[in-house]
Amino acid sequence: MTAYKNFETGAIRTQTERSQYSEHSTPLFATSSFVFDDAEDMRASFAEEKQKNLYSRFSNPNTTEFVDKVVAMEGAEGGYAFSTGMAAIFSTFGALLSAGDHIVACRSVFGSTHTLFTKYLPKWNIETSYFKVDKANQIESVIQKNTKILYIETPTNPGVDILDLEYLGAMAKKHNLLFIVDNCFATPYLQQPIKFGADVVIHSATKLMDGQGRVLGGVAVGQKELIREIYLFSRNTGPALSPFNAWVLSKSLETLAIRVEKHCENALKVAEYLEQHQKVNVVKYPFLASHPQYEVAKKQMKLGGNIVAFELKGGIEAGRKFLNNLKMCSLSANLGDTRTIVTHPASTTHSKLSEADRLEVGITNGLVRVSVGLEHISDIINDLESALKA
Ligand SMILES: *Cc1c(COP(=O)(O)O)cnc(C)c1O
Repeated sequence: MTAYKNFETGAIRTQTERSQYSEHSTPLFATSSFVFDDAEDMRASFAEEKQKNLYSRFSNPNTTEFVDKVVAMEGAEGGYAFSTGMAAIFSTFGALLSAGDHIVACRSVFGSTHTLFTKYLPKWNIETSYFKVDKANQIESVIQKNTKILYIETPTNPGVDILDLEYLGAMAKKHNLLFIVDNCFATPYLQQPIKFGADVVIHSATKLMDGQGRVLGGVAVGQKELIREIYLFSRNTGPALSPFNAWVLSKSLETLAIRVEKHCENALKVAEYLEQHQKVNVVKYPFLASHPQYEVAKKQMKLGGNIVAFELKGGIEAGRKFLNNLKMCSLSANLGDTRTIVTHPASTTHSKLSEADRLEVGITNGLVRVSVGLEHISDIINDLESALKA
């Protein structure tokens, strides 16, 4: 694999070997297994004396191309691609943790990750202690002798808070913890946690990496020895990405930089528009000067991302009414799509939590999350405007 210095070039030119047909664009390798020349070739391949594809649960040219691109983007040493983001997260824990280990994590994590921490990992005697987004400076008080992993997301969902990667990377190093970052909201175009000491970086490729709401996928990249463990765990437990989804995702990465650039431009305009609106209490967007961690965001992110959170005056009812009056924006659980998506966590994704539990993760009754898409900015703002008016 040729390594390209510039992000955009690597995203486009990192390519699996051409076949005898000299195709320009990478074909789809829809095959479950691969053939060998003879008994010796097969023996040497299984013994890993040769780097050859054996079976698509282990590797496939399409998944390898996708992984190679993400590895280059994140500045990692290796990676493995998964069927979903959650498969990447669970398999990383499965590979790197043993019974009796302990995790320290920020309370604001993706919902299913929270369920892993609270419902499933405890079955294997793996406990998690949370710290709150605004209490990251007290993280040492929750680190224990058996803590193995420090796990975070930044920006967080749905509160769009920012955690200081440099500080947390230093804390992980000081306490000899594996620092694992879910970098899904930022994408490697905006933020590369490995620069700040992350050992493994995880993505749900379902979001901005695909960026067009078509396929599910996930990926974990990082240090060689850790990825080796994650690979061995996964080739035996079976969460591999399908060649077709890998083919779609590798194509998607070719336009990641230009898409994310535009997403961020639109999102900043939406944030600035909402900030001056009289029916809106607070707007959270990392690149607004009013954001509580604005300086940290500027330090570690290239742009502010595509998620804007805001607080409607009038609580739950106002939130529901706002959603009902949108004409163009989609009501959907996904994010990072070309289409602008609006959600109201208190009445939907987080409605089963008590109000106190919602507040723990920064979800007030009037909180609305917008995943700003790539439609013309005036159409996005007009839709928000008419729904706010109603
Ligand atoms: C969506 C998401 C996930 C889970 O990804 P899937 O591909 O849906 O399994 C994990 N982390 C974050 C931050 C997400 O937004």
